[in-house]
Amino acid sequence: MKALLFVALFFASINHLFAQDKAVEFSTFQLSDTVYMLKGRGGNIGISTGEDGLYIIDDQLRPITDQLLKAIRKISNKPIRFVINTHYHADHVGGNETIGNAGAVLIAHENIRKRMTTEQVSIFMNNTTPPYPKGALPVVTFNDRLSLHLNGETATAYYVANGHTDGDSIIHFPVSNVIHMGDMFFNGLYPYVDLDAGGSMQGLVAAANLALSMADESTRIIPGHGPLGMTEDLKNYRDYLVQAGANVQTLIDEGMDLVQIIAAEPTREWDESLGKTWITPAQFVTFIYNSLKGIQHYTPLPVEETEEG
Ligand SMILES: [Zn+2]
Repeated sequence: MKALLFVALFFASINHLFAQDKAVEFSTFQLSDTVYMLKGRGGNIGISTGEDGLYIIDDQLRPITDQLLKAIRKISNKPIRFVINTHYHADHVGGNETIGNAGAVLIAHENIRKRMTTEQVSIFMNNTTPPYPKGALPVVTFNDRLSLHLNGETATAYYVANGHTDGDSIIHFPVSNVIHMGDMFFNGLYPYVDLDAGGSMQGLVAAANLALSMADESTRIIPGHGPLGMTEDLKNYRDYLVQAGANVQTLIDEGMDLVQIIAAEPTREWDESLGKTWITPAQFVTFIYNSLKGIQHYTPLPVEETEEG
């Protein structure tokens, strides 16, 4: 009897594991005649499809690539011609190898390829990422900007230095009036600044300002994480980053160190709405403090609870 119960429980938990892996729910948002946003598990994906074919911005996590491809095929059956990666994190480049092997040309800023070809150590994540296999690497790299002239518009990827990492791009679709921000914009939660990979808060502000200079009030903004945004959401994000930076700078000028500044809660007014999903207020303040001090790595706090993310 006991053994039977055990077996039943065992299979129940196995089923649960598979259910978790199968449970990726993709949601599709059509933003213009040709541009879509696809939410699944990992960074939000941008899709352009039309008379010239299909290309995508980012490709989420490696284990869900087959499911992702099915979700994309619901929008268009055409082969994927290009993938543009906004940055090198695993939740944005995970489909590269499979999609590249199927014939897509992988495109990214040169710093993405550099990081993907070498071991990456993250103090914040407390992990090490080995180099990617050759098939996952971008084969076309750019330095400043790159344009694709397809589906009735010239979509341009603009390199935005040292924000989320040192290799991010934002992609502007001028006819569709859409901007894909990659992880330079987290909508509705504090952003992750990957200090260990060349990120800084100042770079996030610069990228938001560049995007805002190309946007009007009806521009749809695809964030790396969080729900689809509008220009107003990006403006609010830029504004609270600037204000949080000023608050922390004031405390630095008063002679406080990082631990004292975290205790002073300089981001208090946003913590309840933005600091509960992933990045905590203490982590966010550390990103700002280290950015302002020019410290190019994350500083783990002595009392910090470890968070998975
Ligand atoms: Zn990222």
